[in-house]
Amino acid sequence: MEKSNVRRVILFPLPLQGCINPMIQLAKILHSRGFSITVIHTRFNAPKASSHPLFTFLQIPDGLSEAETRTHDVTLLLTLLNRSCESPFRDCLTKLLQIADSETEEKKQRISCLIDDSGWIFTQPFAQSLNLPRLVLSTYKVSFFRDHFVLPQIRREMNLPLQEQDDPVEEFLPLRKKDLIRILDAETEVLDSYSDMILETTKASSGIIFVSSCEELDQESLNQARQDFKVPIFAIGPSHSYFPGSSSSLFTPDETCIPWLDTQEDKSVIYVSFGSVATISKQEFLEIAWGIRNSDQPFLWVVRVGSVHGTKWLEAIPEETIDRLNKKGKIVKWAAQQDVLKHRAIGGFLTHNGWNSTVESVCEGVPMICSPFVWDQLLNARFVSDVWMVGLHLEGRIERNEIERAIKRLLLETEGEAIRKRMELLKEKVGRSVKQNGSAYRSLGHLVDHISSF
Ligand code: UDP
Repeated sequence: MEKSNVRRVILFPLPLQGCINPMIQLAKILHSRGFSITVIHTRFNAPKASSHPLFTFLQIPDGLSEAETRTHDVTLLLTLLNRSCESPFRDCLTKLLQIADSETEEKKQRISCLIDDSGWIFTQPFAQSLNLPRLVLSTYKVSFFRDHFVLPQIRREMNLPLQEQDDPVEEFLPLRKKDLIRILDAETEVLDSYSDMILETTKASSGIIFVSSCEELDQESLNQARQDFKVPIFAIGPSHSYFPGSSSSLFTPDETCIPWLDTQEDKSVIYVSFGSVATISKQEFLEIAWGIRNSDQPFLWVVRVGSVHGTKWLEAIPEETIDRLNKKGKIVKWAAQQDVLKHRAIGGFLTHNGWNSTVESVCEGVPMICSPFVWDQLLNARFVSDVWMVGLHLEGRIERNEIERAIKRLLLETEGEAIRKRMELLKEKVGRSVKQNGSAYRSLGHLVDHISSF
């Protein structure tokens, strides 16, 4: 009797939009290379199974209360999830392995490995106890993932409070001291021990997959990471380039964005979005509104429901100002971002520099205005403005004059043209990496071989 050759990979994403998208993209890539896919996921922020009929989805309880699902404290959320998901995840995975074992020879599908987010800290010892190889997926830029493990030490050794300075942080380049203050201010010692656990469990893993990085964006850090972690490392490039389209969106995208962009001139629109988690104060919200309006450029602005403190959606803006805004642009609750960035009318992206958004912008050659809020966003923004020089940095000043000025510099002035040219070159370089024989494409081949070898 023929034995089934198909191998199954188990994926377990963290339930955040910026983690679900790359994991589902990886699932599509591995499926196209012949693997069967099972996604274990929490009830909270469950991916839409109906959008991916070729995958098997298994939901586990996450123990979060209604109030906990609304928290904006990501560290707290991750701590709670790691605490409450361990036991249901163990039960689910054990059952899957038992079922796989008990199948008849002809139906038998070997489970090759578990791939889960670096932020799950209980999966490594459990997978090890089952003799199941575990690969870690990192949704961070390689340099951030590698260097952020130094933060607990910096916190212990530095004389706080730090001076607000432009000087570089030697252990964490190209971060500046003023960025470090913002990272250390916002993060707590709870996070330090969480980072230590991530480091330990990653070092014990069977490899690390960087889904949105490639040699072209991160060569030096990749070399260093290979020495630090001593496990195989794969940088498979902007994963959305292999299968475009955000079919793993947790929110419903406003479908009127693209028809509206069709009515705008080439490279004239500033796209504004701060991702799926960041929240802002009412004052910052008003400053952005006025900055955009005063720039007199058309805009597409994503304001997530609940993203402005103390309000539901747009109430903080007086109605007559909304009327004035609507004459020049469009405000929506969620957009199909990858499609928006691809549109010929988009001329710039005012962004929080989440790593996915940053890479999506690079892939479409859209220069950025950087307004990072927390964590890796501060490092990503430094790469954009200081290293690749493909964007302007607001330096934390969310003020109407600064925003108006930055939009005009980027969209209307010669400085903007130079930035756009550099961005075009970066776009081409990164684009080549996912083409046949490009660095990311080859790394993907090595990943497939690695998984097949288990
Ligand atoms: N996104 C989207 N529509 C929006 C805003 C964001 O589809 O209106 C997507 C975006 O394309 C990206 C993800 O949500 O893939 C956000 O991830 P990122 O790492 O940029 O930021 P995070 O949400 O994790 O802070």
